[in-house]
Amino acid sequence: MKEAIEKTLKAGEILKRVVYEAKDLVKEGVRIIEVAEFIEKKIEEFGAKPAFPCNISINCDAAHSTPKSSDERTFQKGDLVKIDAGAHIDGYIADMAISVDLGDHKDLIKAAKDSVEAAIDLIKAGINTTQIGEIIEDTIKSYGYKPVINLTGHGLLPYIVHAPPNIPNYAAPKGVTLEEGMVIAIEPFATDGVGKVGDRNECEIYSLINLKPVRMKPARELLAEIMEKYRTLPFARRWIKTQNIVMSKLVKEGVIRSYPVLAEISGGKVSQWEHTVIVEKDSARVVTK
Ligand code: MN
Ligand code: MN
Repeated sequence: MKEAIEKTLKAGEILKRVVYEAKDLVKEGVRIIEVAEFIEKKIEEFGAKPAFPCNISINCDAAHSTPKSSDERTFQKGDLVKIDAGAHIDGYIADMAISVDLGDHKDLIKAAKDSVEAAIDLIKAGINTTQIGEIIEDTIKSYGYKPVINLTGHGLLPYIVHAPPNIPNYAAPKGVTLEEGMVIAIEPFATDGVGKVGDRNECEIYSLINLKPVRMKPARELLAEIMEKYRTLPFARRWIKTQNIVMSKLVKEGVIRSYPVLAEISGGKVSQWEHTVIVEKDSARVVTK
């Protein structure tokens, strides 16, 4: 238990440092992939590993966007940029996100950031996730925006980024009571749209969901590589040197799953802020602060 906490805290310390260094790189004209690769490389340099591909989602894209290899896209004037990254040490994960403003989204970003802080102030053993969702919703609405209701915070377990319980970003009924020692990510999204995301037909992130025998040799080799490097953690298409046909075969057979880009369905701009915390008896210990 002590080792788990120490590794989670160390991963959080490294992650926070790297994300804030990367923040200064986000400027008009800079290639998006440059920032993603900076974060992924620096996490390793400091002694942790990426827990998932660095997500850089812009404007109405809310989550699951990571550059493809040889991605030429650059940040544009006016962009609302979300950087969501994770680091792990021996599977103990820290997960955090910030928003960077290249336009005029100060209040939209503040709504997400303040709602995380209000939630963290409330968290301790015995608190129900409905109460957390309620304060997130109230805080975001106090700025005149809406929470994205179908994106949630989550528990973190060794090598599992999205573990129970879900932490809703609105007062969802039938919540779960938090217990001492739980590691959870609080992750609200605020928007000036209707408050819902849907899949966009674009996918650069995958993870292993069901390890079972496969026939094709390149598929077997790919699975061995995934088990060695990522286990059940998400990985980027650009990290893997295999043919598209091998990837789609494994998705079709239910061995790996894909994470399509999630965008606000009405085209609203989306801001995000995220911290990982450890639930303690009387408070929450912020791992990424
Ligand atoms: Mn995250
Ligand atoms: Mn998260």
